[in-house]
Amino acid sequence: MTEDILINVTPFETRVALVEQGSVQELHIERSIQRGHVGNLYLGKVVRVLPGMQSAFVDIGLDRAAFIHVADLRQNRTERSNGTAITPIEKLLFEGQSLMVQVIKDPLGTKGARLSTQISIAGRMLVYLPYDPHVGISQKIESEQDRHSLRERVLSFMPEEESGGFIVRTQAEVATDEELQADQSYLRTIWASIQAKVKVQPTPSVLYTDLTLAQRVLRDMVGPNTGMITVDSRSTTQELLEWAKTYTPSVLSRIRHYSGERPLFDTANVDEEIARALSRRVDLKSGGYLIIDQTEALTTVDVNTGGFVGGRSFDDTIFKTNLEAAIALARQLRLRNLGGIIILDFIDMDDAEHRSSVLAELNKALAKDRTRMTVSGFSQLGLVEMTRKRTRDSLAHQLCEPCPTCQSRGNVRTPRTLCYEILREILRESRQFNPKEFRILASQAIVDLFLEEESSHLAMLGDFIGKPISLEVESQYSQEQYDIVLI
Ligand SMILES: [Zn+2]
Repeated sequence: MTEDILINVTPFETRVALVEQGSVQELHIERSIQRGHVGNLYLGKVVRVLPGMQSAFVDIGLDRAAFIHVADLRQNRTERSNGTAITPIEKLLFEGQSLMVQVIKDPLGTKGARLSTQISIAGRMLVYLPYDPHVGISQKIESEQDRHSLRERVLSFMPEEESGGFIVRTQAEVATDEELQADQSYLRTIWASIQAKVKVQPTPSVLYTDLTLAQRVLRDMVGPNTGMITVDSRSTTQELLEWAKTYTPSVLSRIRHYSGERPLFDTANVDEEIARALSRRVDLKSGGYLIIDQTEALTTVDVNTGGFVGGRSFDDTIFKTNLEAAIALARQLRLRNLGGIIILDFIDMDDAEHRSSVLAELNKALAKDRTRMTVSGFSQLGLVEMTRKRTRDSLAHQLCEPCPTCQSRGNVRTPRTLCYEILREILRESRQFNPKEFRILASQAIVDLFLEEESSHLAMLGDFIGKPISLEVESQYSQEQYDIVLI
């Protein structure tokens, strides 16, 4: 089945949707404001060497001069690992010197960016270390056998004349030889273009910036099943064509510019899908629905039947709903990019054959997802436990923040609950303080209730404490917000 890729570009953000048969499967969003300088390479100029601080200021063309510490100079990195003493900065750098540097920490407030000359360039599976001739494996790859095999394979693809090394990223755990080889040659091409720029570019200038989301799409998401890659910005289309010419030539013929009247994302209802992917409830065609709850520790998906059972037998309705739910939830996990532990609570099924069919349908639906996963069978309680590797933030984390009204509980205290809370609070304060009057500042709903149905309780309390209690509407307050003012 072919997947089309839609790329929506605006000055503030780039959004990518992966669409299969008219239905959105994956969403990626990158906001310009989140793109820092970390990983970027610059040809900088040393403006000041500070022997007392064993550091130097380097002009890389940003507003503020960047900063490098003696320990982040390449020469000292290798020496340190050999156990020899660090060479002082004044022996390695001088004012006016041109220097290739990489940003390792973004500028913050009055502090300039922090730099290193130990260059590393991240690819999809590997990180290239042009000055460090050895192969390392990510700590997160635990199997000793996998580590050994990956090291051997990466070494076998390295040409004789290679003077650098590689770090194998976690993503490479299940990589094929072709993918490892392609990533190596991609990284060497990048490095060659950087070296060519050093010879001709002025100081200071940019030598390399980390890939944009649109470029990463071409590098990481395009496969044999990819159909068209449609981009709604003429200049981004042009940039992508240029980029693809060098790095991913097989993709070139599939990139096209969209200039239609209708917004690109409307053509596949992507914005509607995003809104749906942020809601707790997902409706199924059969009338059933999923409830998806995401907490810090885990995600739970609860499958429910609709109210109407129709003509079929009850068991059959449950089985059909669970089958439909398995497909829908596999898609939702990918769309929402939910990671970590996921507990699936299907509707109870007595029939063992039904259970194994639902599990098979689930595994089939999950197979389209490129993220690493594990799925258990049904537990004694009828739950399916699964894990999905956490990659970037979930869609909800990227686009939403905890609700300030309900503190993300998903409900707010009723006006009556709040009225009684306020009455108790006034009683408590009247024992502690002795004001002339109490004033309640609260939302319209609370004040209305005190004026009508709860007016007698308010009056009773006033009589009991022997103080007048007045009311004032604070229109900016949410339902749960109130103040008790002593006058
Ligand atoms: Zn809320």
